Amino acid sequence: MNDAPQKLEPWQWPEEHWRGLVNHVRAGRTLRPKAWKDGARCAFAISFDSDHETNELREGGQSIGRMSWGQFGNRVGVPSILKILKRHGVPATFYVPAVAALLHSDEQRRIVAEGHEIGIHSWIHELNSVLPYEAESDLMLRARDVLDKITGVRPVGARTASWDFSPHTLRIEKEMGLVYDSSLMADVDCYELMLDGEPTGIVELPVEWVRDDAVYFMMHRFQSLRPYTPPEGVLDVFRREFDAAYAEGGLFQLTTHPHIIGHRSRVWIVEEIIRHAKARGDVWFATHLQVVEWAKAHAA
Ligand SMILES: [Zn+2]
Repeated sequence: MNDAPQKLEPWQWPEEHWRGLVNHVRAGRTLRPKAWKDGARCAFAISFDSDHETNELREGGQSIGRMSWGQFGNRVGVPSILKILKRHGVPATFYVPAVAALLHSDEQRRIVAEGHEIGIHSWIHELNSVLPYEAESDLMLRARDVLDKITGVRPVGARTASWDFSPHTLRIEKEMGLVYDSSLMADVDCYELMLDGEPTGIVELPVEWVRDDAVYFMMHRFQSLRPYTPPEGVLDVFRREFDAAYAEGGLFQLTTHPHIIGHRSRVWIVEEIIRHAKARGDVWFATHLQVVEWAKAHAA
């Protein structure tokens, strides 16, 4: 990627500079299959980002109160979610920072034992965009090794913490031989990621803030951040996203967090969106990796 021309404001940048910025990481060919597995009309991929205490740690924070919020994710959030997934026979993907996996190793082993996927989610929920290449690469490699060692399964997919994608992230994922990423937002279907105009072979399973519980439910006592959408309103957004995906024969992807969605007044949303999708009958419930593999193999 070309460097910013010194002393120039964005409106003075030469065309090759702004084109270079835009084209560095880009969506390539769309990977929407003609049909999903077993002839299903729609794919349903739900994910849980088990950040737990790392949300506080990554800021250099030492708040015991917010750390206990992270522990809630492990003690209450994940068990409640696993109970719902088991009741409905739905596989899911959990993205886990290495530090959260080291703090809660039994949780990760249980998740894998119950048939779910675990993906890379940074070391300590650090933001990639502030890191030099060497540090980001080192943290990604170490994070993969930790998850591999704890669960016995080598993760092949990554989600950047806070969906913060640096200019080096895709190159690192390619060097690691990852199968897919799930941090970017250029489509509603899976697509192949392009690096400086070249296909990488890495599949993006796109996310979106509208399909993320944190957007609606986050709260900070000493800042103005407050939940402003009632749980029924959040379900309504998710349901509309699903209904449109179903109508189009596409993919419904959802991101939630055990320490956020796991509360009694919210966790029913997970069950309700699964029930709603199940009522359609021809929906394929799959992990993110299963969706990616199917989309790549059967792209129309
Ligand atoms: Zn996260």
